[in-house]
Amino acid sequence: MIIITKLKYKSIVMRTNGGYNGGRIYTYIGEVCVSVNPYRNMTIYGSDYVNHYKGREIFERPPHIFAIADGSYKAMKRRGRDTCIVISGESGSGKTEASKIIMRYIAAVTNASGQAEIERVKNVLLQSNAILEAFGNAKTNRNDNSSRFGKYMDINFDFKGDPVGGHIENYLLEKSRVVLQQPGERNFHSFYQLLSGAQDNDLSKYKLKRDVNAYHFIRQGKASKVDSISDKTDYKAVQQAFKILGFSPENIDAIWRIVSAILHLGNIEFTTDGDTTQVKNQDVTKKIAELLKVDHDNVTKALCHRIIAAKGEVMEKQHNVSEATYGRDAFAKAIYERMFSHIVSGVNKAIEVRSKDSRDRYKYNTVIGVLDIYGFEIFERNSFEQFCINYCNEKLQQLFIELVLRQEQEEYRKEGIEWTAVEYFNNEIICDLVEANHKGLISVLDEACLNVGKVTDEMVLEAMEGKLKGHNHFTTRKLSPSDKELKHVEEFRIRHYAGDVIYNINGFLEKNKDTLFQDFKRLMYSSKDTIISGMWPEGAQHITMTTKRPQTAGTLFKNSMIALTKNLASKEPYYVRCIKPNDQKTPVLFDDERVTHQVNYLGLVENLRVRRAGFAHRQAYDRFLRRYKMISHYTWPNFHSGTDRDGTRIIIDEQGFANDVKYGKTKIFVRSPQTLFALEQARASL
Ligand code: ATP
Ligand code: MG
Repeated sequence: MIIITKLKYKSIVMRTNGGYNGGRIYTYIGEVCVSVNPYRNMTIYGSDYVNHYKGREIFERPPHIFAIADGSYKAMKRRGRDTCIVISGESGSGKTEASKIIMRYIAAVTNASGQAEIERVKNVLLQSNAILEAFGNAKTNRNDNSSRFGKYMDINFDFKGDPVGGHIENYLLEKSRVVLQQPGERNFHSFYQLLSGAQDNDLSKYKLKRDVNAYHFIRQGKASKVDSISDKTDYKAVQQAFKILGFSPENIDAIWRIVSAILHLGNIEFTTDGDTTQVKNQDVTKKIAELLKVDHDNVTKALCHRIIAAKGEVMEKQHNVSEATYGRDAFAKAIYERMFSHIVSGVNKAIEVRSKDSRDRYKYNTVIGVLDIYGFEIFERNSFEQFCINYCNEKLQQLFIELVLRQEQEEYRKEGIEWTAVEYFNNEIICDLVEANHKGLISVLDEACLNVGKVTDEMVLEAMEGKLKGHNHFTTRKLSPSDKELKHVEEFRIRHYAGDVIYNINGFLEKNKDTLFQDFKRLMYSSKDTIISGMWPEGAQHITMTTKRPQTAGTLFKNSMIALTKNLASKEPYYVRCIKPNDQKTPVLFDDERVTHQVNYLGLVENLRVRRAGFAHRQAYDRFLRRYKMISHYTWPNFHSGTDRDGTRIIIDEQGFANDVKYGKTKIFVRSPQTLFALEQARASL
């Protein structure tokens, strides 16, 4: 058992005696599962373990993530509740692995009757990971397989509790990686997989060399080989998964052609004679045109000019070299992102509920949602992407506080249970800092984007300074000149729940605006490949049609986060809190300081205090009585001599648990799980 000891700094830390190093990587706080990344393969996920946990109550067995999966599954199956499993923790703490372990567990405990369609669904659900990780994950300096998109997956179950389908919602892909990687990092795995895994004839079809260093877009981080990853094997797995999910050969080919076109795009160079800008290496644009099945002239045109419509007139405007380079990069990012969404839709098509009787779909549609999203991260240089990712983690922390810390205490108050309040840090103030209307950082950024005049990133920062002066969680060099850590005027610091992050404002404006010249949209729409043109329906629009200004990337993300948290809050939540034991990705180091920090910011100390002082279980009196009335002859078969509460009290007193419970207005509160087991046992032994 991992022992949780109180340290004098009011923190708890998982000690290593027989715990982490002994292979015990899970513990509980109430029903929250705390998981420490083992950084090695564990033999605790086999069928023996599945059987050990299947159908058991959470406290009957040593802590394990299977118990959480089983808990949410039971709630869904027995009580018809929609549940969700929220997995949180910083980058590299083990969220994605945890989500896969949960999915495998659910696959292992369902479909006892071996129905073919259910087997297909389970297989498709499991196989979808290989594809999504290939296109949405990358090596970062924090994690060799870091999720660069957020994923929320609903698994739908029929009335027998078997999975019949699912749906994936994806959140903001970090597309800037397509054109730029920090030292030590890679682009998305897919690029390297293609170059390592594709057959020679496929590579020549895609006009590629088997040499990572030949392509600007994937060599910048100088880390193309990752020890823990075999791109070649992964490529095979992805191809296999595409087939299993029913992606047609043409579809798979179109996807890899887009990936190849992006590799070529990165090698395009521009020249100018002062007046006109041209593509220097037209052999490359020819390859791109062939791969995307578009007209070569249109490719070079879209790269070097833009068409603008003003007052019904259409004009061509030359790019200078830096505009052309900007356009090229925006194009590469946009087609990768669009392709990613296309892949997610393809996966969704493969996993959507297929029922002969459409009424079934609605009648028995209970779900378990699994959330696996990018973890909180701090890099040397943090930009708009980290800003979004870290804001997302604030939202999830807020939900945790709301559901686990606040509501729990609120319930004691409402039920009239005596209770000494546990104080905790509420990060609502940081969520507001980012998302509040008018005053929040996203609003300030949006306002700047709306401005037609020349607005710079520095001006955006100034506007932020004006609006947020004195905010406890926001500062800049100008607002606090003595802060030596803020080295540049273009930096700002957000005091996040998980630590301080210094962001560089450069690029925020552009990334928020997320402009892609119309010309590229029309170019893609003109593709002779219907799969590619189908990804760009808006390219059909005539140039003179004034398009509504699209929502900014920040606002889209904010709205998707608000919708996500609302959805999660509507379900019965189960929590897995992942902890990263060290920054070296090694199985042998348990870095006390790093772990203590995470335990603190995740609010686990407060969580523990609430649980310790609180009650493991609560149940409305009528439900309690219905479940246990058979263990007392005073209450069996029916209790008529008092209220449900009186009946409950008779059972508790008779069993000798009077000291372990409290009576609320509508519910009984049971302190220790052992009491519950004993009651269950008394019931079972009749
Ligand atoms: P990010 O936020 O960057 O996506 P993450 O929390 O999803 O990070 P994972 O990718 O799940 O982190 O884990 C990082 C690595 O840690 C894995 O690639 C794997 O090597 C190791 N790991 C995590 N959990 C386990 C586990 N239960 N057993 C074995 N190895 C694990
Ligand atoms: Mg992940």
